Amino acid sequence: MWKRTTAVTVVVLVIALAAGFFGCEQESPVAVKEQTVENIDSSDYPKGPVNTIMDLGAVNYPINPWLPLNTSNSFGHYVPNRGIHLGDDCVRSPGTPIYAIRQGMVKYARYNSGGWGYLMIVESMVNNLPFCTVYGHLGNAMFPGEGNWVSTNQYIGTVGSMQESGQTTPHLHLGIHLGWYGAPTGTYPSWCRGYSTSTSGWSNPTTFMAYW
Ligand SMILES: [Zn+2]
Repeated sequence: MWKRTTAVTVVVLVIALAAGFFGCEQESPVAVKEQTVENIDSSDYPKGPVNTIMDLGAVNYPINPWLPLNTSNSFGHYVPNRGIHLGDDCVRSPGTPIYAIRQGMVKYARYNSGGWGYLMIVESMVNNLPFCTVYGHLGNAMFPGEGNWVSTNQYIGTVGSMQESGQTTPHLHLGIHLGWYGAPTGTYPSWCRGYSTSTSGWSNPTTFMAYW
């Protein structure tokens, strides 16, 4: 009788422990800040519920420090005869190192005669949101080449000289276009512009980087 009682007690204890371990697991506190898209300019974002952000801190600045920018040509600024500026211009000396703001695939890295000079475009995702980063007016050495994966914070090149960038004021033009690249690697995508009649499809880069 003693042995049987003890055995039953042990079985009950084991079941209770197992239930406690597997069945009543408490949700451990996760170090994720709850934010909503209302915190940023909602026009920068596609429609859809994004209530809990899992990837905060996943996007970095391409140049440190990132500020100040060229305030006379920041995102959304209208330039006569050109249109609305679709990126942020960060004026720095030629040779200033530039780092990838987010891991992704290098879809375009070559000289572009359309006013970009040396241009790199990287396709990335953050929190299931696909986007492309446009790095304009670079120096002629860009790393890695087209079709290669780039890591967050990886060195990708420099601010180009006047000759390399085709710009009288050397600077990085940083653009964030929402959505997939939408063209074969090495092909210049139709959506890629420095100026347009509206900012539709583009995100304010400085706001975007600060948010993620
Ligand atoms: Zn620009």
